[in-house]
Amino acid sequence: MSDDATASIPTSLSLSKLCVEATSQYVARFADEPQWIVAAPGRVNLIGEHTDYNGGSVLPAAIDRYVVMVGGPSDGDASCIVGADVDEEAVVQVTGAIKPGRITWSSYVQGVVAGFVNRGEQLYPFNALVRSSVPLGGGLSSSAALEVATATLLEAMLGEEILPLEKALLCQEAEHKFAGVPCGIMDQFSSVLSQQDSLLLLDCRSQVVEFVPFDDPAVTILIANSNVKHELTGGEYAQRRAECEAAAKTLGVETLRDVVSEQLEFASERLGSVNLGRVRHVVGEIQRTVDAANAIRAGRWQEVGQLMYDSHASLRDDFEVSCDELNLLVEMTKEIGDAGGVIGSRMTGGGFGGCTVSLVRTNAAQSITEVLAQRYFQQTGIQPTLFTTRPARGAHRIK
Ligand code: ADP
Ligand code: MG
Repeated sequence: MSDDATASIPTSLSLSKLCVEATSQYVARFADEPQWIVAAPGRVNLIGEHTDYNGGSVLPAAIDRYVVMVGGPSDGDASCIVGADVDEEAVVQVTGAIKPGRITWSSYVQGVVAGFVNRGEQLYPFNALVRSSVPLGGGLSSSAALEVATATLLEAMLGEEILPLEKALLCQEAEHKFAGVPCGIMDQFSSVLSQQDSLLLLDCRSQVVEFVPFDDPAVTILIANSNVKHELTGGEYAQRRAECEAAAKTLGVETLRDVVSEQLEFASERLGSVNLGRVRHVVGEIQRTVDAANAIRAGRWQEVGQLMYDSHASLRDDFEVSCDELNLLVEMTKEIGDAGGVIGSRMTGGGFGGCTVSLVRTNAAQSITEVLAQRYFQQTGIQPTLFTTRPARGAHRIK
């Protein structure tokens, strides 16, 4: 995969233009019009970070940035997938026993195909081309968007839809088994189920979804990609999960969701200072997520903003998954503040790089974007990518 795939992702390209470009690239490659066109969005999590695998709630929105897949039947025996953004082609297997192979971008596609085959669906060889406006590896869940786009393309091929919940779980399983990422359910649920102008309040334990209207035109979501990714040793996500599991065991609960704040006061010695911080984050964040959903429903934006700042501080100090660049972006946004049209800001996604999410007054979004881009570049020498979005529609078939 080319290193600059992320840099070349056109985050400002509209969905319709993306479809037009994908179609013409497909025609150029396969000398045939695509029969199916589908789109699946990335997502941004407004609040509720590292709560999913602890049985808590998350509050994501689909962003109006999509993975588009265009496709049609193949004349031959092989199924060829073109990754136009990564400038690579891959062959995927559509029949027989499908085993996970070496992990590459097409593993996400292959994993979903395997999920359909395992359900007993009769697939046939097809060609497809992927084009996306979701940055790769930026914490906006391009991976789930790719999986859900694949699932939606296969539904188009079969002429039938599977239940949304089953579709999301099938895609999650593909990521676990074929990409080796033990992700929670937020990304796939969000890409499948989201509705325009709504946030998704998802209880990750019961898998119950509530839609929280986010339709005040005066408030906009601003995403700032720090364009850094600190790989470190790569095992931090797994390490945090392990720490949370160990802490739950120490506290005698199934998941950290079951911890009540009072319990924490008496547990500091048993947990040790590191795990105490981890638990404090998770317990506080689960509460903040529910509080934020209520505050958004009631239009109490100042409270929402404070909860976002609190979430960031907790991720930075207690859960220790932030980094200098994310802290800088949040600080700079906070500095612009209420007077400059900022409501709140925090890092979003797993951490160690990626994006911040902010809520801003719509009429100030442009000037905030310009100021942040300029100041962040001045301080770091890195060009950030900033864009605004409204909660977007989930995966759907276009043709
Ligand atoms: P995130 O989901 O936060 O964007 P991940 O590391 O989970 O980051 O997933 C990114 C990976 O998903 C990429 O490295 C690539 O393998 C695959 N992927 C996502 N979008 C595309 C795309 N448009 N074309 C090809 N592969 C993609
Ligand atoms: Mg991902």
